[in-house]
Amino acid sequence: MKEFESDKVWEQLEQSGITRRQFMKLAIASGLISAFPANEAKAFSSKANGKIVIVGGGAAGLSMAARLENWLDSPDITLIDPSDRQYYQPGFTLIASGVYTADEVWKKQEDCIPDGVNWLKDSVVAIDPERNSVTTSANGNISYDFLVVTTGLQTNWEKVEGITKDTLGVGNAHSIYDYEGARKTWIAIQSFVQTGGRGVYTDTYTKHKCGGAPKKICLLTEHHARKQDKRENVALDFFTASKALYDVAHYTPRLEEIYKERNVPINLNMQLKGVDTEAKRAHFERVTTVDGVKTYTPVIEDYDFLHFTPPMTAPDFLRDSGLCTTTDKDEVETWVPVDKHTLVHTKYPNVISLGDCSNQPTSKTSAAIRMQVPVAAKNLISIMEGKEPTESYNGYAACPIITDYGHVLLCEFDYDKKPATSFPFTMMDTSQELWAAWLLKVYVLKPLYFYGMIKGHA
Ligand SMILES: Cc1cc2nc3c(=O)[nH]c(=O)nc-3n(C[C@H](O)[C@H](O)[C@H](O)COP(=O)(O)OP(=O)(O)OC[C@H]3O[C@@H](n4cnc5c(N)ncnc54)[C@H](O)[C@@H]3O)c2cc1C
Repeated sequence: MKEFESDKVWEQLEQSGITRRQFMKLAIASGLISAFPANEAKAFSSKANGKIVIVGGGAAGLSMAARLENWLDSPDITLIDPSDRQYYQPGFTLIASGVYTADEVWKKQEDCIPDGVNWLKDSVVAIDPERNSVTTSANGNISYDFLVVTTGLQTNWEKVEGITKDTLGVGNAHSIYDYEGARKTWIAIQSFVQTGGRGVYTDTYTKHKCGGAPKKICLLTEHHARKQDKRENVALDFFTASKALYDVAHYTPRLEEIYKERNVPINLNMQLKGVDTEAKRAHFERVTTVDGVKTYTPVIEDYDFLHFTPPMTAPDFLRDSGLCTTTDKDEVETWVPVDKHTLVHTKYPNVISLGDCSNQPTSKTSAAIRMQVPVAAKNLISIMEGKEPTESYNGYAACPIITDYGHVLLCEFDYDKKPATSFPFTMMDTSQELWAAWLLKVYVLKPLYFYGMIKGHA
């Protein structure tokens, strides 16, 4: 990781009334967490029994496995996941802006699986929630008493006509929603800024993980161009499928203002439908709604560099299992339905789901998952004990929107879209971008993920 004007960072931090000591309390929390003895994390223990199967060992699945392993006296946990690597996905934006190297954001999956958990390196291809059984591609059927569904979401690259995952980068059309894609994006941004032209940035019309990521990479390109003294070389445009750039009132005015200050126009209600990578043309539909009736007007935008976001849903096999909100293949919003407070499946009381695949109405971020995990784990244990699940998740999510190399608008909010600010940021004006939040984003959150969150300590 490169140094980003660190002395200046501390100076500004202290000018804003936060001492290094106060800030480092937070950093220390993440560092010390790795040194916590496991029994420190035993907020309580339970003698509950039962076979738990966790499908998906990413941010949510690993963190659940670790918590349950800590809290159950006789845990019987099987975690099914085919991956060799555990990626810290929020780092993809920082790879694509040259802050992290690509190798800084992953660890071997085998090193991330909690001790005591039986890891089945396999894929689940079907779930039968009526018979309490999952089917794997290599190990046949596996039964469970309790199921934790944490598969993350499916990125539907092919729903952008002209794009496949394998051709990412062709025609200078890039996406940071993929590890290799993030690497290619950084190479492309550097060359785009030198050669110049028009940069087009999009989000998508489905819910997507880290809604802030498309906005961040746009603003980071803009600042990178300024740092290279090449700002006049590039014209940048942001296209959102939504009716507003952001929908959390505490943060939106400043974010819109930043786009204005940086001369990046925001185009609303624009859904990316396809890309002609040969002609470098992005095909959008502008959606207008009059008296509840939607009209779709085709709009074509030429680009020299494109950053796009693919539509996302829960994985198809979950839809086929009947665990999702719909089995309809054409329905764009397909997620695992859970009670938004307890995270228990709305139909199957022995199934818990959290993270990106489930339908609680908040942002799909690992910050949200960090708060969901203790609630989901305690509720699962209550169910195992034959009790009602009483722990409640309030919808907390965080999206640190990087506004330039050195500043982050730290958006933290709950289900009501009210600010839910963490210490020590409670002492700062979080409606403005902050150096301290940049430090958190770049230096604290990654170790917090690998050594705190997925170890069940944070
Ligand atoms: C570019 C980008 C930027 C982001 N920025 C931020 C940010 O700044 N802040 C933030 O908090 N979050 C951010 N996120 C979002 C965050 O990374 C995700 O919300 C989080 O990783 C979701 O965790 P999850 O466990 O639900 O899914 P994942 O972490 O994706 O894990 C899902 C796991 O399920 C496994 N799986 C899938 N299908 C199967 C199957 N059939 N059988 C078995 N296993 C299966 C996968 O192998 C994977 O290991 C960002 C994400 C991206 C891509």
